[in-house]
Amino acid sequence: MITAEAFRQLTLSLQGTQTTLIAVSKLKPASDIEALYHLGQRDFGENYVQELVEKQAQLPADIRWHFIGHLQSNKVKYLAPFVHLIYGVDSFRLLSEISKQGEKCGRQIPCLLQLHIASEETKFGMDEKEMIELLEHYEAQRAQLGHVRIDGLMGMASFTADEEQIAAEFRNLRAMFELARQSYFLGQEHFRVLSMGMSGDYKIAIAEGSTHVRIGSLLFGQRR
Ligand SMILES: *Cc1c(COP(=O)(O)O)cnc(C)c1O
Repeated sequence: MITAEAFRQLTLSLQGTQTTLIAVSKLKPASDIEALYHLGQRDFGENYVQELVEKQAQLPADIRWHFIGHLQSNKVKYLAPFVHLIYGVDSFRLLSEISKQGEKCGRQIPCLLQLHIASEETKFGMDEKEMIELLEHYEAQRAQLGHVRIDGLMGMASFTADEEQIAAEFRNLRAMFELARQSYFLGQEHFRVLSMGMSGDYKIAIAEGSTHVRIGSLLFGQRR
């Protein structure tokens, strides 16, 4: 069940900001997506490849699908024909695979680099040094990577009630975004996505300059 009232409030609060709402529908039925679609939402986020492929096949063709989960290189091919934006790129290997699959589909696939900004340990996401290494590698091989496009960065703050810590982590991500833009994408309009903020911290993220908030439970209720 979707929460139509939460959607209205969220849409209202984003009006006049530069922020796009990504409705995160992972583990929720297609009927929930349809309900939000009928209220005007077009951008949906999913975490699991098979689930996304199944939903894409049965839902309206003008939905923009954002893959926000961890993507294994061997599964890029299933998303390549239709995905709107791939989040969570944290290796050169994955970046090259996206370009390879983009070429097969005759399209350039937009993606975001995932940065690790939280205090919790996780195997996903790069630190600043790894980001720079990846971008150097990318710059050197750009001619061979014509079917992938880096549109910006994404990251997740710590799971904590400390709002000052969350704000500081988002500021850190924004600083890395500016660094990447200045050093590698100056004058390239497509590098403009800074995706941060979820149900619990999206207000802080917007205040810190988020362009794409990813919101699940606030719209669809708790997941099982
Ligand atoms: C699940 C998920 C979200 C949405 O989380 P909520 O707390 O339900 O809003 C956002 N981003 C990523 C990467 C996720 O995996």
